[in-house]
Amino acid sequence: MRQTAEMIVRKLQAAGHTAYFAGGCVRDMLREAEPHDYDVATSATPAEVEALFPGRADLVGKSFGVVIVRLDGVHVEVATFRVDGTYLDGRRPDSVQFSTPEEDAKRRDFTVNALFYDPVEDRVIDYVGGRADLEARILRAVGEPRQRFEEDRLRVLRAIRFVSALGFQIEPNTWAAVKESARAVTVVSPERIRDELSKWLVGEHRCEALDLLSESGILMLLLPEVEKMKGVEQPPQFHPEGDVFVHTRLVLSHLRQPGYGLAWAALLHDIGKPPTFSVDETGRFRFNGHETVGARMAQKILSRLRFSNADIEAITAMIANHMSFKDVPQMRVGTLKKLMARDTFADEIELHRADCLGSHGDLGIYDLLRERRAAMSVEEVKPEPWVRGADVLALGMTPGPSVGCLLKAAYDQQLEGVWAGRENALEWLRSEVAQSLSSRKQEDLQS
Ligand code: ATP
Ligand code: MG
Repeated sequence: MRQTAEMIVRKLQAAGHTAYFAGGCVRDMLREAEPHDYDVATSATPAEVEALFPGRADLVGKSFGVVIVRLDGVHVEVATFRVDGTYLDGRRPDSVQFSTPEEDAKRRDFTVNALFYDPVEDRVIDYVGGRADLEARILRAVGEPRQRFEEDRLRVLRAIRFVSALGFQIEPNTWAAVKESARAVTVVSPERIRDELSKWLVGEHRCEALDLLSESGILMLLLPEVEKMKGVEQPPQFHPEGDVFVHTRLVLSHLRQPGYGLAWAALLHDIGKPPTFSVDETGRFRFNGHETVGARMAQKILSRLRFSNADIEAITAMIANHMSFKDVPQMRVGTLKKLMARDTFADEIELHRADCLGSHGDLGIYDLLRERRAAMSVEEVKPEPWVRGADVLALGMTPGPSVGCLLKAAYDQQLEGVWAGRENALEWLRSEVAQSLSSRKQEDLQS
């Protein structure tokens, strides 16, 4: 990737243009992290870039002057140096103008994101003091922080996610401006909020960033259900660590390089505790059914953030299921297999581990589960299903959700060891289908 980006820079420079690596990749190179992509900034106009890479350049957002160059299976964003016009909607400039490297640096959000690097001359170009801030691990807005956060309301969330990814301190003036601008974060589209929050959650310093989200008031605006976990007490014998928020923060801290699905499940796993809190006759705190209530709340939160149905299903399933791990020692082998055959099992066992480490610290069930899993072959945990869609359709069912239900019921029973083999499974299927078809006929007659 780096070689390809460097080639593009060389070619632009050879044609008489200025061209540098820009933004996140320079920041990451200088802090000795692997950039996940390389962006190039240049004095060449989009038309000039296209002419230099015929058939390999796609114009994106014409008015923004960004061209994607495709070379050696790698995509590199090549953007013309520009200055943004005025911002009217709190998100996007209504115009942009091609400009100088210096002005291009000054339109960027944070000093550490505003560096250029010339790979040909091995030289860093720094118009904003980004190098010193990188050295000192400081996240500082470029220019006047208040104005920068006002013109683009997304930037307060970017500040938080860079803290999470980099572990830097936010410079005091910048932080004051984040707090002042926080209340307008709600004008950002739910999709952009979702993406920034997901990046926050998978960052290594997610807990420090959580504190900033809460302190700035952003958490209360975007995820009030999480903020409300503060001060909700728990039984001290199981939760010596403190209230539900403290516990959740600890659980997040114990995740090991999670994907965003697991990270969201961890954030929301006890979200049902505040509304289910009660005290029983012995004076013990109870949260009856908090996993079911929590899964329903998570469904609402994730829909509001426009997550895909597949993501919502996976995350809410992890939440709904998280209490069943305590039953593992007594579980029948069929039930255990059903648990291990779940698509989300790898994430669920990690969530369980973090949940234990974030409370009583006992990993007995986690270890037991891993032992049991290691002792079973893939075939044992996830055998080929005896009943398939074709079997159901061959019996006269029309394709639809009821076919899926039958397949799931059949697979569960297979895992539970209800049947000796495929023949028994098909026998069951025939009677189920006959029943379903005859009740359908009954309904038709009635209507
Ligand atoms: P990551 O490693 O997460 O991709 P990045 O720094 O590359 O981080 P991007 O969102 O890919 O971040 O943006 C690339 C660069 O564009 C940033 O480094 C920054 O200079 C600039 N930039 C992106 N979004 C904004 C914004 N909303 N306001 C100002 N500058 C921005
Ligand atoms: Mg990037």
